Amino acid sequence: MAGLSMRRVGKVFSNGFAAVKEFNIEVEDGEFIVLAGPSGCGKSTTLRMIAGLEDITSGEILIGGNRVNEMETKDRDVAMVFQNYALYPDMTVYENMAFGLRMRKLPEDEIDREVRWAARLLNLEPLLDSMPRTLTGGQRQNVAIGRAIARRPKVLLMDEPLSNLAEEIKVQNRRELKRIHKELKSTVIYVTQDQTEAMALGNRIVVMNDGEIRQIGTPEELYQNPCNKFVAGFIGSPQMNLFDVVVEQAGDCAALALGEHRITLPKEQSVPLLEDGYAGKTVVCGIRPEDFRFGKDCEGAAKDGCVEAMIQVQEAVGDELFLYFQVDKVGFVARCKEGETGHPGDKVLVCPDASRFYLFDPATERIITNQ
Ligand code: ATP
Repeated sequence: MAGLSMRRVGKVFSNGFAAVKEFNIEVEDGEFIVLAGPSGCGKSTTLRMIAGLEDITSGEILIGGNRVNEMETKDRDVAMVFQNYALYPDMTVYENMAFGLRMRKLPEDEIDREVRWAARLLNLEPLLDSMPRTLTGGQRQNVAIGRAIARRPKVLLMDEPLSNLAEEIKVQNRRELKRIHKELKSTVIYVTQDQTEAMALGNRIVVMNDGEIRQIGTPEELYQNPCNKFVAGFIGSPQMNLFDVVVEQAGDCAALALGEHRITLPKEQSVPLLEDGYAGKTVVCGIRPEDFRFGKDCEGAAKDGCVEAMIQVQEAVGDELFLYFQVDKVGFVARCKEGETGHPGDKVLVCPDASRFYLFDPATERIITNQ
């Protein structure tokens, strides 16, 4: 196994479209890295450049310290798992998993050892003589993973491997993937559009948009300290509430105005806003759904900034309750506890925790201040 370095890697397609720009990352040996972002942001192109399936236009890729820019796919010692499994339909599970090893002309006893090792790891032993068409989607995907890891590649590349599976199978296979990675200790680069999947799997996540890296961090870092509006909106479910407010001077502090409503910010958050000259200007304010209080919990010190809001929809998801409400024609979602609120049509007193606000510059979308 080995680490991976990507230094100022770029891809411009022959039609002039720049799909990946200035991509920089140092991946440690054994790390599980997730490339996450919306459709078309350049995730698959990045993965394909690592695999050698796509030439790079600029920059440098190193695997285990060796430059691979000019190296063919077969010499890079990487394996790729695709969304559509790409199994050979006329071969048994065993033969599918042995295929890459046969191509490398390994001795038969070594092939058998490797296939059985991978099959054991993926709980595929009872299925080794089965044909792919008789398997469930989840099992087929495991065969595709088995085929990739049987070669013990330096880097395992996975392109949305779970996206064709039903939700509950997806969650199960996600758990399995974590267990397999723990045992394998291989370097994994995993592509997904699904932020929940990214948060569940990645040691670190690379959030991409428009061919650029928007932030790299652990799931915790990205959730707690997004460095721009895009990452703030992409990570977290339900999404962070993002809305425009006007900054006003309120004594030594800054206050945020949304229509008729005002909320004064704590000193620590006010200082960067005022020092950077945002008084009188519009900024983007973000608040996570869990950072609201309701009804009688609003009483007391935090009463400043509480607003009356009309409940529009209440949604129970598992043991959680999401409350959708409007303030000044702006829609919000809050995460709350059963019995804490009311019913659609009811008016409730809502109090956002101003100390938990994130504020972003509307033009650059960069964070100005948070918590
Ligand atoms: P998805 O999640 O939908 O697979 P992605 O983030 O993996 O999206 P890519 O497949 O890497 O995105 O594509 C990035 C951009 O490059 C897209 O706008 C795509 O249309 C464009 N693109 C991909 N291949 C080519 C090509 N051969 N020529 C020109 N543009 C291309």
